[in-house]
Amino acid sequence: MNNTNFVELLDYKDYNMAGNQTHNAFIEINKTNFINNLISIKKFVNHKLTNKKVLLCLPVKANAYGHDLIKTAIHTENYVDYFAVANLEEGIILRRSGIKKSILVFGAFTEAQIAGLIKYELDITISSLHKAQLVADFCVRNNLSCKIHIKIDTGMNRIGVKTTSAFALIDFIFKQASFEVVGIYSHFVASDLISSNHDYDKTVDATITQQQLSLFMPVVDYIKKLKPNIIAHIANSGAVCYHDNTYLDMVRPGILSYGYLPNNGMHIDKYLQNNIKPCFTLKSKVVYFKVVAANSGISYNHEYYTKEQTRIVTIAIGYGDGYRLQLSNCGEVIIRGKKYTISGRICMDMLMVDIGMQNSAYVGDEVVLIGKQGNVEITLQSVSDKLHTIIYEILCSFTSRIPRIYIENQ
Ligand SMILES: *Cc1c(COP(=O)(O)O)cnc(C)c1O
Repeated sequence: MNNTNFVELLDYKDYNMAGNQTHNAFIEINKTNFINNLISIKKFVNHKLTNKKVLLCLPVKANAYGHDLIKTAIHTENYVDYFAVANLEEGIILRRSGIKKSILVFGAFTEAQIAGLIKYELDITISSLHKAQLVADFCVRNNLSCKIHIKIDTGMNRIGVKTTSAFALIDFIFKQASFEVVGIYSHFVASDLISSNHDYDKTVDATITQQQLSLFMPVVDYIKKLKPNIIAHIANSGAVCYHDNTYLDMVRPGILSYGYLPNNGMHIDKYLQNNIKPCFTLKSKVVYFKVVAANSGISYNHEYYTKEQTRIVTIAIGYGDGYRLQLSNCGEVIIRGKKYTISGRICMDMLMVDIGMQNSAYVGDEVVLIGKQGNVEITLQSVSDKLHTIIYEILCSFTSRIPRIYIENQ
């Protein structure tokens, strides 16, 4: 979370100046691609509509999916209608960074957090009658008012009121003078599930999204009779890509906004396939070069041996940056437009690569570990496949030691 201090010390120009490099590894965020993704999503969700406009909420929780909470919000504020965060702390960071847009806190709060949520003018998620009472009591005691969104549980069984209790909760909420009811929302269990994707663990089937929507809609219809301009929202990235009847008044695509299509783009509209692009590139540098003899063990425990005399380069990134140990002997890097496999164990701060006698690399060379160098690419998907996880987890796993640096296409 707190890579802010790093980022404050570095901008892209500083980065290129010797003396200002505090760390060789960094994450480059392509602002041009990012903004283009947001514009494309807005066009996509609005292209069939004439008389109303679907709003765009950008989830920036978990350090903006690893893209840097503050920088992401500052760079995107003019292109989104709403931000969403997971908790009070993330909301405070945004407000203290000067963000003026509405910010919805998705998570459930504890009583101690109510004062902060109101003080920082964050939209509060009301996910139960008890929580509604807590906030209402706090507001009455302190003569305050607050903005709220009501959370309906249509199947996640995470937070939110069941549709059966929703009507009573809504009636209670509309009696509270201190509440400004801004929105009502729910969340999908598996909106990226497509029936032809055989990789999926089939504990649910693709019909669940429409089932959830049909649980949600009667509640939306009820509340709209009380307040027609309430913002109803349910669509995450999967729903934006696959279920156009879920857009309602606002969409909340996270991973799609950051440039990744569910199911690698399978059965997704050509417009999104052509316009959505990742903006995240993980880079480091060659910091050491040597020639070693045949049969030399490399790194801790000598989990790699050279077959012949060869060239070994050392790259300044390791698991202390969040580049995971499990990528030892299988992760890939790009140096001078060529892909290599990591040799031996990844260390906390460094890793080694056997580039062979026929290839060259020099100290200071750029190394790409996720993303493109020229036309050669290591996709985030390929890295998460190697780690048997999802791309979301990889994006969230880079530590605060790595600065996030925003660049724009020239
Ligand atoms: C994280 C989150 C989203 C965005 O999900 P994506 O799959 O990244 O689109 C939307 N809504 C809620 C409530 C979330 O927690």
